[in-house]
Amino acid sequence: MLNFNKPCYIGKEETAIQEAIANQKLSGNGPFGLRCTNWLEDYLGCEKAILTPSCTGALEMTALLIETNPGDEIIMPSYTFVSTANAFALRGANIRFVDVEPETMNISPAAVERAVTDKTKAITVVHYAGIGCDMDAIMEIADKNNLWVIEDAAQALTSTYNGKQLGTIGHFSTFSFHETKNITCGEGGALVINHTASVERAEILQEKGTNRKQFAKGMVDKYSWRDVGSSYLLNELSAAYLWVQLEHAGQIMDDRLKTWRKYYDGLKSIETISLPHVPDECTHNAHMFYIKTEHRHELMNHLKDNGIMAVSHYVPLHSSHAGKQFGKFAGEDIFTTAESDKIVRLPLYYGIEEKDVDHVISRIKHFFKL
Ligand SMILES: *Cc1c(COP(=O)(O)O)cnc(C)c1O
Repeated sequence: MLNFNKPCYIGKEETAIQEAIANQKLSGNGPFGLRCTNWLEDYLGCEKAILTPSCTGALEMTALLIETNPGDEIIMPSYTFVSTANAFALRGANIRFVDVEPETMNISPAAVERAVTDKTKAITVVHYAGIGCDMDAIMEIADKNNLWVIEDAAQALTSTYNGKQLGTIGHFSTFSFHETKNITCGEGGALVINHTASVERAEILQEKGTNRKQFAKGMVDKYSWRDVGSSYLLNELSAAYLWVQLEHAGQIMDDRLKTWRKYYDGLKSIETISLPHVPDECTHNAHMFYIKTEHRHELMNHLKDNGIMAVSHYVPLHSSHAGKQFGKFAGEDIFTTAESDKIVRLPLYYGIEEKDVDHVISRIKHFFKL
């Protein structure tokens, strides 16, 4: 069976983990953690990045940082992973799910604009498949209505929009290093803070509500409980694995892009399916290759019979049990349900062999009688 995903592995991770063990510092914010956050800050060109146990944890931190209160409305696409919504539902917010644009499956700025009320607190966008949302339009709506913007950039590390790194445009952004993402450490994430005034509070929330970080920097002579918080740290063993991957980010993305282009060139002649669209303002990191077809179920079965794991994606959150409890769809669901029903994601991971990609392409063409 050809896997849908394999966690990225460079081959130098063991050595880094052994070094972390020898350092005798295994908890968070150690030397490997610092190397990773420095890398993120340099690469992204952002003021502050902190490592978290997951993108989910980073999203929860953003909900605290914007002081989400019961009754606040948060606008986001319905077509996303549960964590995008959960982080705010945990704080009692009402989620306003809005429609996506069919070409990219990214949040529709027009739908956002129509969903804004005097209770709206924030817009959380998701850069689906590592391809950027229309951030100019989103930031304009946010400025006009005095709203926070959070980028769920879980899939989007190294992708750009108008020459800017995704994750550096909104007030906060969150990345994932889950094993299904381009760069991984099993479970892990990062919070990027572009809103300068929130940096200090973010460091306190991360350390269980204490000012331990200021203590470590020698800014205070003992640390104490200052605020609410939780344990939002990534341990050093994971940070060591992550460090090797970040150092090889270029190599990882190039390899994935090669596969992505091979799929694109190999499948573009099939007229009855649609392929991912990359807007002119965007460059992407080849996080995902999906096709849209009216015959999803049959195609997935056909691929499975040929030893290939191809998978669907998100069930729109507004139609889920929890989604109905914590929010509702604002406006009309023109594309979310209809388009998400057509998505089939193809195997794509670092080091996938060319012959395997050729096999997937040939089996898809065979299905469509080409
Ligand atoms: C993967 C993903 C998450 C969750 O990431 P974790 O690191 O597993 O918490 C959140 N949002 C989106 C859009 C994702 O793709």
